[in-house]
Formats: sequence, C-alpha cells, structure tokens
Amino acid sequence: MARVPKVLAEYAQRRGFAAEVTAVERPSPSLLRIAFHSPSLRSRDVSPCDVTAFRVGENDFRHYTPESHDPDAGTVTVVVHDHGRTDAPGLSLIESLAPGSEVVWCGLDSARGFRWTSPSAALAMGDASTLGLMAALTEQANAESTRLLVAVETEPPDREYVTGLLPEAVVLPAAEEPGAALDEWLGEAGERIRSLAPRVAYLAGHGGSIQRQRQALRTRHGLDRRAVRTQPYWATGRTGL
Ligand SMILES: Cc1cc2nc3c(=O)[nH]c(=O)nc-3n(C[C@H](O)[C@H](O)[C@H](O)COP(=O)(O)OP(=O)(O)OC[C@H]3O[C@@H](n4cnc5c(N)ncnc54)[C@H](O)[C@@H]3O)c2cc1C
Repeated sequence: MARVPKVLAEYAQRRGFAAEVTAVERPSPSLLRIAFHSPSLRSRDVSPCDVTAFRVGENDFRHYTPESHDPDAGTVTVVVHDHGRTDAPGLSLIESLAPGSEVVWCGLDSARGFRWTSPSAALAMGDASTLGLMAALTEQANAESTRLLVAVETEPPDREYVTGLLPEAVVLPAAEEPGAALDEWLGEAGERIRSLAPRVAYLAGHGGSIQRQRQALRTRHGLDRRAVRTQPYWATGRTGL
C-alpha cells in the first residue's frame, strides 16, 4: 500500500495506532535506530517479517520492519537505512523524529508468503534496509533452535556496528552495485549452504538483487521454488514499495 487513494489512506490511518518515539540513535553513519512506545504494542504478538506502514503524504506510505519487540514494556525498535537520497519522504519522516514525536502505525502484519514458518534450518539474505528483519529473524531462530545463516551487505562504514548487531552473520561490504557483494558470496558459499540444508530462504531488500539471488539459489544451490520467500523492500528508480 505504498500509494493509495486519499480515502483509503485515511481509513488505514484511522485503523492504526499511535506510538510515541522514545529514543532516536544513529549508531553508525548510515543507520538510524528508532524506539517507539505504545500501549497497543503491549497487547499484540509481533513476529519476524511483520511490517508496519507510516503515512508520508496524502496518498503515500512507507514500510518499516520491527527489529525488536518488548511486549511487557510495549516498545518496538526499527532500524532504518539512511540511503542518502533527497526527495524521499520516508527518510525525511524518520530523520524528523525526536523523543516525544508521535507516529501512527498503520497495521503490523506480515505479507502473505513472507512470514516466519518455524523452519528447522533457514537462510536469510538482505541489504542495509533489512537489518531490523535480520535481527528479528535471528532472535526468533535462537528462541526456536532453528539453524539460521544470515548474510547481509552494508555500507562499509556501518560494517563494524552490523557485525555487533548480528554477530553470527556474514557481513559483507556493499559494492557500488546493489546486491553485487551478496551475489559474489552466493557464488562461493556452496558448501556452507549445502551443509545448512535450508528449508526456507528469506530474501529481502533490493528487488533486482532478490530476483538474481532467487535464481541462483534454485539453479546453483538446488533449492525448491517454494522454499525461496522474497520480499522486495525497494527498487532502483522507484519510490515506495
Ligand atoms: C515490507 C517492507 C519493509 C521494509 N522495512 C524497512 C526497514 O525496516 N528499514 C529500512 O530502512 N527500510 C525498510 N523498507 C524499505 C523502505 O520502505 C524503502 O527504502 C522506501 O523506499 C523508503 O522510502 P523513502 O521515502 O525514503 O524513499 P523513496 O521515496 O521510496 O525513494 C526515493 C529514491 O531512493 C531510492 N531508495 C529507496 N530506498 C533505498 C535504499 N534502501 N537504498 C538505496 N536507495 C533507496 C529509490 O530507488 C528512489 O530512487 C521496507 C520496505 C518494505 C516493502
């Protein structure tokens, strides 16, 4: 629901819930971490892959993924990639937030087909926009003793922070071309993927990269089509997904 008629945008916002920003951090040069609090976050389950949408204009929304959820405190954190583009209303909204700001969370659900299914072993791949998702998947996998291999690419100055955030993950310095670092890793990771034997692969982030990686997982690594779940987060030259 990135762009919808105004009447639907208003309906979505009315059905949402207000959350107050309690903290804003920039833990590394191109990442922002926002903490929200709401009584509505106390009474609900949040699964990895659940996402919300923030209204950024009359007709427009942008999507974000919880990184962590504390149901007792009613808090959620979100990690946002500062992708540096101007004329980007989602990033402008995020950068305008300060403790005390209020944002309406329009929904908190997973997209059909891209949700946690408690696999015994899983692979997850993504870029800087997916770090919250990767942290949430890691927490859930640890809680369920799922064997999870995460591979992410991040802007080089963020690599140290991301390695601390995802200590078990493969953290690659992103090249200029989105997805190129992950493509290269996939080309070399045959043995690691074979020994993991993932039941599910979660691919999120840049749309074009996900398509290439899905193809590589199927043709080079032998994963079944139904085992590869994809969720594009952004696409070159397109606004909002
Ligand atoms: C289900 C879902 C969950 C998401 N969760 C998160 C999340 O937790 N954290 C997060 O950071 N993002 C997340 N995203 C991605 C985020 O919604 C997009 O990056 C969105 O385009 C940002 O909106 P914007 O207004 O800043 O930029 P837009 O107005 O949408 O785009 C402006 C320009 O910036 C480019 N652009 C947009 N995003 C990126 C990027 N990440 N890197 C490089 N170029 C980009 C576009 O191609 C376009 O040219 C999610 C997206 C989806 C669909």
